Amino acid sequence: MKTPLEILKSYYGYDSFRPMQAEIIDNALLQRDSLVLMPTGGGKSICFQVPALLLNGITVVVSPLISLMKDQIDALHANGIQAEALNSGNSESKDILIREKCLNNEIKLLYISPERLITEIDWMQKSLKISLFAIDEAHCISQWGHDFRPEYTRLDILHEYFPHVPIMALTATADKITKQDIIERLHLNHPQIYISSFNRPNLSLEVKRGCSEKEKIQILLDVIERHDHESGIIYCMTRKTAEKVAQKLYECGVVVGVYHAGMSIKDRNQVQDDFLNDRIHIVVATIAFGMGIDKSNVRYVIHYNLPKSIENFYQEIGRGGRDGLPTETLLFFNLQDLITLRKFAEESGQKEINLEKLRRMQEYAEAQVCRRRILLNYFGEISDCACDNCDVCKSPPEFFDGTIIVQKALSAILRTNETVGFTMAIDILRGILVSDLVSNNFHQLKTFGVGRDIPFRDWKDYFLQMLQMGFIEIAYNEDNHLKVTELGRNILFNRLQVDLACIIPEEKSEKKKKKSRNIIQDNFKSNDNSDVLFERLRKLRQTIAEKNNWPAYVVMSDKSLHALVSEQPTTIDEFGNVFGIGRFKREAYGEVFVALIKEFHDEFGIIKPEKKIDDAISLSYMDRQKQFHEHAYAPWTKEDDDYLIELYKQGKSRKELMEIFGRNSGAIRSRLKKLRCLD
Ligand code: ADP
Ligand code: ZN
Repeated sequence: MKTPLEILKSYYGYDSFRPMQAEIIDNALLQRDSLVLMPTGGGKSICFQVPALLLNGITVVVSPLISLMKDQIDALHANGIQAEALNSGNSESKDILIREKCLNNEIKLLYISPERLITEIDWMQKSLKISLFAIDEAHCISQWGHDFRPEYTRLDILHEYFPHVPIMALTATADKITKQDIIERLHLNHPQIYISSFNRPNLSLEVKRGCSEKEKIQILLDVIERHDHESGIIYCMTRKTAEKVAQKLYECGVVVGVYHAGMSIKDRNQVQDDFLNDRIHIVVATIAFGMGIDKSNVRYVIHYNLPKSIENFYQEIGRGGRDGLPTETLLFFNLQDLITLRKFAEESGQKEINLEKLRRMQEYAEAQVCRRRILLNYFGEISDCACDNCDVCKSPPEFFDGTIIVQKALSAILRTNETVGFTMAIDILRGILVSDLVSNNFHQLKTFGVGRDIPFRDWKDYFLQMLQMGFIEIAYNEDNHLKVTELGRNILFNRLQVDLACIIPEEKSEKKKKKSRNIIQDNFKSNDNSDVLFERLRKLRQTIAEKNNWPAYVVMSDKSLHALVSEQPTTIDEFGNVFGIGRFKREAYGEVFVALIKEFHDEFGIIKPEKKIDDAISLSYMDRQKQFHEHAYAPWTKEDDDYLIELYKQGKSRKELMEIFGRNSGAIRSRLKKLRCLD
């Protein structure tokens, strides 16, 4: 019999297990129950697919969504593994065919919806040899989870019907109560519980506070431009916002799909399908867009609004970067969202729990320590490290003595008898004569205009900081008026010193980001044509995908494409050794890919180096590819550079240069910078 590692190599083309996978597989092979907690993209599927291939009989996988099943089955077929799905999307004749295949031992994995499992259970018990039950998205069984599905509760009969078949429950989101709920409701028998690290180091974390709508759109456009031709998701709180944001982007010439619960199922499926198949790169969505998404090459996830809990947030950003490559996440945080979400929480059935969840989300958004640390601590992983891949770690906040500012603000609030909200308080401080203010005689207050020198935007940030430090509260039941807390009064009346975090000007932070990208680019040895090769490989992948009616990443992940570029295999054996290429893909696609690479070598007169390029270099290739997607599609040659300098010196405009070189404005600018024509 083969070992799990041999199965991993031969079917999936991977060289090693990720943490926990091997133990989880061993436990299933020993016929024991288990509960697996792993973040999205952590590699849960391998945990039940490898035992399925090793055990006698069929592994039954319960999954809540048809789209999820389809995706997994496509991926299994692409690796030459026999699997089918029983769900309401099938015709009767297809169902009959699948049942026959089950009886003839022609499939290893049977995916099934929970409701279908219940109707088929008698037949399954009588006629099938089942080796393992895998319950995917197991948190759906718990009323405490955010995706409760009543059909899942029927799964409590599984162990009654199949006392000797082990159950593996898997989920990416489970707090303590949900965990307990899963164990109890599935009647798991002394389950081994596996909690893998929730850390996803390839996701960068960033929060932007207090941006106006206009600023948000501009920032979105910057991110989109940086990720030209790459996929991204933008989450909004409401349908209306999603539509508005999509419209704004559309007006700026960006093609996006919209996805929300108000659309027909048909339209939603279409958007999802277009996204999966790279026909559209960007989806603006409400949280309804999600569970069915297994796309591995989502390069950025943006929250246009504050999510209502860290679970939601983490699950949503988890949809980015499943292939392990660098992925950006950005959260916009402002007071209005906080107020709206508080209201929702107050009016919800589980007020206390939801308010607490929101508070924790707010903590993340307001963090002045490593954001990853806050996320990990939330999921029970105590960590005190600095991750170096969040905005706080990259530019730690600097503080200044803000005593006077705080005193002015608190005093302004108290002098109105605490009857104003943020905007009015700031208008008073800045001495703005709006009609509401005058009709309340606030322009007569001693504090009127004492904060004139501070822009509105900065005041808003200081108020957020005061809220965060507990000097003020928002009275949600009193028109969101501001109240000074005991602590705030103490600060004011005893003249205690307070430090405030400096506000980083937008320009500076953007500059920093661009600079760091240029440093990466400087590390490239940009004297070959690997970007051309990458583009050709990508096209070939797309053709194969279309032929099979699979999403492109099912044929081959981006990571495999990058590995192909760095290793440039010219024999089928070499091809078979590339990351993510198993036996089946080697046989099915080896020939065409190798032929393409050879042709490329001939065309460019490349003689393949003998030595295999190591991981470190292949990583810089990946970064490099990323750069080319951001800027343009071919490396600059020496002639290009000379010509560019000459034209620049002649005084050609940026626009003219863009046309002459066929590159976008960012690419021209960064090249000019590199050539030291610009600062
Ligand atoms: P999850 O279901 O936990 O969200 P998946 O099972 O979809 O995650 O796995 C995410 C990605 O990681 C997939 O592309 C999968 O093939 C890949 N993967 C899983 N295990 C390994 C491994 N041991 N080595 C390399 N890649 C892996
Ligand atoms: Zn950090």
